[in-house]
Amino acid sequence: MARIVQKFGGTSVGTLDRIRNVARKVEAEVKAGHEVAVVVSAMAGVTNQLVQNCTDLNRIHDPKEYDTVVAAGEQVTSGLLAIALQTIGIPARSWLGWQLPLRTDDTHGKARILGLDTGAVVERMAAGEVAVVAGFQGIDANGRITTLGRGGSDTSAVALAAALNADRCDIYTDVDGVYTTDPRIVAKARKLNRITYEEMLELASLGAKVLQTRSVEMAMKHRVPVQVLSSFAEETGSALPGTLLVDEDRNVEELLVSGIAYSRDEAKITLVGVADRPGVAAGILGPLAEAAINVDMIVQNVSADGRTTDLTFTVGKADLDRTCQVLDAARAGLGYQRLVADSNVVKVSVIGVGMRSHAGVAQRMFKALADRGINIQVISTSEIKISVLIAEEYTELALRALHTTYGLDQA
Ligand code: ASP
Ligand code: MG
Repeated sequence: MARIVQKFGGTSVGTLDRIRNVARKVEAEVKAGHEVAVVVSAMAGVTNQLVQNCTDLNRIHDPKEYDTVVAAGEQVTSGLLAIALQTIGIPARSWLGWQLPLRTDDTHGKARILGLDTGAVVERMAAGEVAVVAGFQGIDANGRITTLGRGGSDTSAVALAAALNADRCDIYTDVDGVYTTDPRIVAKARKLNRITYEEMLELASLGAKVLQTRSVEMAMKHRVPVQVLSSFAEETGSALPGTLLVDEDRNVEELLVSGIAYSRDEAKITLVGVADRPGVAAGILGPLAEAAINVDMIVQNVSADGRTTDLTFTVGKADLDRTCQVLDAARAGLGYQRLVADSNVVKVSVIGVGMRSHAGVAQRMFKALADRGINIQVISTSEIKISVLIAEEYTELALRALHTTYGLDQA
């Protein structure tokens, strides 16, 4: 007997038929003699609609009420799945975030999990009842409902699996695993059987949308055996299992690059004619940090005349207007000549733990892009990833070229 956490995403619970299908997947684990807890997302599209409703009433709404509203989608699916399970003779009950409770801080809209009490759930699971937990939601110390950020039910599932010390955390989604890159863009993308926690963390934070970044952080920290797989496997005829998250020493695929991610959520800012003296970069980035604007890639050019230079960096597209505002307000103190904003950019990243021990990975990337006439605007690297900023129109071309360059194309 094992203890299993299953998580089903929005498309997997998108209709009543699909909820019945999910109930059968839960039934299979129960019939195999396992203790099962299930975490569900809201039905596909529901959370977006709820967010929209808040914004339509007031663009700048109370984040506490936002959380009360958007958490509702998961309340519905947890109850519906419990009914579907009971209907086929499987004892089940729903658990909302506050009922567990799953305790969070009070950062509404993006709350962090502080702790999760599983006592009551464990007792009832041992008695053969399936726990159907509403993902994405928790409760703060003030007794207010919180949510964990978009895509947060992945994190609910991993947190529950960690707290339950589960043998497996199966994340069911609408793709059958983690791919080398987005298969909608690169037809030759292939599914990875295994990927290291670290690589998955980079992939998720650099734009791959399979798992919420925080869920991977948590899985890595607690070494939760996470598996990403399709809830439509029978329909698509794909062979289980999906992709397993593993420690580096268990990763046998040994690819130099395991994945290529891209993000269209970045915008580029160039400050032209900034004084070239100590303290200037700090002077520019300080006000942005105070405004809670995250700066990602940064380059400072050498100054031709020794007096002024250009500073280029990227921020989230959603923060672009605010960034310009902040920099404009601080212009007198900073003394730059001109601000140039460009949101027609994409960040493309290649990721692989293999880079740690092999030279020339970056050079191959730059050459592949140069051969296709793609200009690199900004570069940033870490031990296991290289990111470049390029013009958005080259996204597809760059992804395909890099996929081939690193030998990832499916035969
Ligand atoms: N329903 C939430 C969202 O759409 C949480 C999730 O699906 O993971 O972001
Ligand atoms: Mg998701």
